[in-house]
Amino acid sequence: MYSELLPPPHQIDIQQGTCIPASLTHGSISGLSTPALELLCADLPDLSITPKEGDEFSAIFGCSSDLPSIDAQLTERLPEQEQGFVLRAAADRLEIQGRDAAGLWYGLQTLIQLRRMATGSLPAAELRDWPSIRHRGIHIDLKGYQPRFESLLETFRILSRARINVVLLEVEDKFAYEFAPEVGVPGAYTAAQFRQLSELAHALSIQVVPKLQCLGHVDYLLQHERYHHLREAGHPFQYCPRNEEGMKLWKNMAAELCDCFSGHDFFHIGADETGNLGQCPICQEYSKADSYVHRVQQCVDAVRQMGREPILWEDILRNLHGNLDERELERTWTLGDDAILMYWAYGYGGSGNSFPLLPRYLERDMKVWGASGFSGCGPSWIQNIPPLAERALNISAWTKTAVENDLEGVVATGWTRIASADPPAEPPEACWFSILYAAESTWAGQERNLQEFCRIASQALFGTDISGLYGRFLLEMESGNLPAESAAIDVSDHRTRFALLRATAAVTGHDRLRRELQETLQIYHGRWGTRMPDYRLGLVRGRTESFGRSLEKCRGDLETALAALYEPGTVADVIQSRFGRDAELLAHAEELLKKTAQI
Ligand SMILES: [Zn+2]
Repeated sequence: MYSELLPPPHQIDIQQGTCIPASLTHGSISGLSTPALELLCADLPDLSITPKEGDEFSAIFGCSSDLPSIDAQLTERLPEQEQGFVLRAAADRLEIQGRDAAGLWYGLQTLIQLRRMATGSLPAAELRDWPSIRHRGIHIDLKGYQPRFESLLETFRILSRARINVVLLEVEDKFAYEFAPEVGVPGAYTAAQFRQLSELAHALSIQVVPKLQCLGHVDYLLQHERYHHLREAGHPFQYCPRNEEGMKLWKNMAAELCDCFSGHDFFHIGADETGNLGQCPICQEYSKADSYVHRVQQCVDAVRQMGREPILWEDILRNLHGNLDERELERTWTLGDDAILMYWAYGYGGSGNSFPLLPRYLERDMKVWGASGFSGCGPSWIQNIPPLAERALNISAWTKTAVENDLEGVVATGWTRIASADPPAEPPEACWFSILYAAESTWAGQERNLQEFCRIASQALFGTDISGLYGRFLLEMESGNLPAESAAIDVSDHRTRFALLRATAAVTGHDRLRRELQETLQIYHGRWGTRMPDYRLGLVRGRTESFGRSLEKCRGDLETALAALYEPGTVADVIQSRFGRDAELLAHAEELLKKTAQI
């Protein structure tokens, strides 16, 4: 039973007797901040919880207001690791002792899960648990999808329950920057909203790592005329690294984000895929590596001055895209002395899940965090839901590597556009299975059978086991494994997220019908539109009609499901990219049908 927890505890010691989590009525907690206590009370509405003074990070729950004292010996059972906790469930009480505030919080999240899972009795037990990796991150990439603010807050709460303690927040054009007018999209988040998000994150023991691209991937900004002069040789993708006005702008924008997310420890400066180095007349005077280091080192220093630890992508240091001459590389490696290198490798197609540069970075005492991929990693640039089997290989490979090399952090990235100019990739809110897999993997440090994982994760998220219907589909994302459209299924929690999962999955079936129709148009070219016998005319008519029905239903369902979670601009963009061309295709097929005479 306890192994059904997500994540499964490191140690489960079954003891004499039973415990009925649902019978607990009262609780007393010390060492939890007031905002965290309020969040907890909202998750345990039928428990009467009172804060208690004291230096301990402990909690005790019982079946009456007359609560016993917590067992003093529990402290001796605490795991050594920070964020660890011990939870003891007995007949008349449930006690939790945390190593620190985060440890207590995670122990309390376990209690919430136990009460949701078990209406009856459980064996009495002592659970000891701790994280395998200190910083366990999820990337929230706002560039392709802007969640409604309430959805974003709720996402943080789900992540914290899954023991994620870092959110890499890719802001791009979804913030109304005071120092960068015109950059924020209509409806961009405000400073007040980001401050509220920051406070929530503190209460949930989550570090927000704002990400602001300092060199490349800035066409969201340089597309605006007032910033054209900051481009490298006229390219909208990249700042000129020698234009100090661009540096000043970036610094002001970074300061704004730091101000919103005060009290958080890290800041990500991007710095990847800078393919336009050394092109403008000024930059031609220097080596590409010199110009790269010139700008990136300034950003690293600026972040340090703001009291944060800088993080940057390391692909330029390993010359992944051949942007530098090989002999220049050594010059860029000095950046690893002052900043955390985030080593991204996503195991495309299930291969490439080894990280050959890692030993060389570590030999030079550089601090490295891994970056796996939970979505937006192919096989296509727009797909519906990431194939879990492939993503799990990559996520597990990074966990194993991080544990073996004692890396402090791993962040699972979820790219919502390949680059700013590209269409939106998978909706993040439909990617919970790969997100939760990453959360469990980085905490537990071990793999779980994927079918079993789907069962447990769906129970934890939706309060209902959907693995029978969706398990096989989620693993491979094959339309042939989709449940029948008529399959009745309802879930008890997060219905809007389940509706999105269902609508997004259904698009995979629609994509198959489109391919069929396109193929039919191709192979009957010259006949369809002139003369056909009844049996072939029936075939092309049938395919046209089922595509038309599917288009209407899938587009409508997806639009509704997206609108419950995302801002209108996002919804319109996704619907356009998935179905915009379909109307033309359908109209073309229908026109040909009209012209076709029956032989
Ligand atoms: Zn330049």
